[in-house]
Amino acid sequence: MAKGSGNYTRLKNIRIAGGHYEKKFRWVNFCVYCGQPKECLDHVFPLSLASGLDLSRPSVKQELFQGLNIVPSCSSCNRIASDYAFINIRLKRQFIQERIRKRYLKKLRAVEWTQEELSEIGYNLKSQIKKLNHNRIILENRVMWPASSKTKRIY
Ligand SMILES: [Zn+2]
Repeated sequence: MAKGSGNYTRLKNIRIAGGHYEKKFRWVNFCVYCGQPKECLDHVFPLSLASGLDLSRPSVKQELFQGLNIVPSCSSCNRIASDYAFINIRLKRQFIQERIRKRYLKKLRAVEWTQEELSEIGYNLKSQIKKLNHNRIILENRVMWPASSKTKRIY
C-alpha cells in the first residue's frame, strides 16, 4: 500500500472510537474501571495496536467494537493498563483491579483504628492515620467497582 495508509487506518480508528464514545459515555464523569473521578480518556484496546488491524474485515471490526471505545478513565487506571490489549471494558477492568489489589495489598490489609484508639494518640499521628484510612477506603472502592457503588451499571 501507499505510504500514509497507516495514517489513514489510524484516523479511521479514531473516528470509530470517537463516534462510539459520544453515544455511550457522553455524560459519564467517572472512571469506568474503578469509579474514581474521570481525569482522561482511555482506549479500551490500545490505539497503537488497533492501527495495525485490518478494520475493513467486518469480523475484526465486530470483535473489537467495544474494544475500540474511548472511555472515561482516571490517570491511575490508564497508567496501569498501559498498552495491554483487551477486547472489552469488563476484561480490562478485571485486569486493572487485580493489579491494584496486588500493588496495594499492604495498604488494603492495614489494621483499622477504632475511635477510642485514635483518641489516645497525638494530633500529627492521628491525622496521618486518618489519611491512611481514607486512602484505604478509596482503594477498597476501586477494586470493588462497580459493586461498591450505587451507580447503575453502564456496561
Ligand atoms: Zn480508575
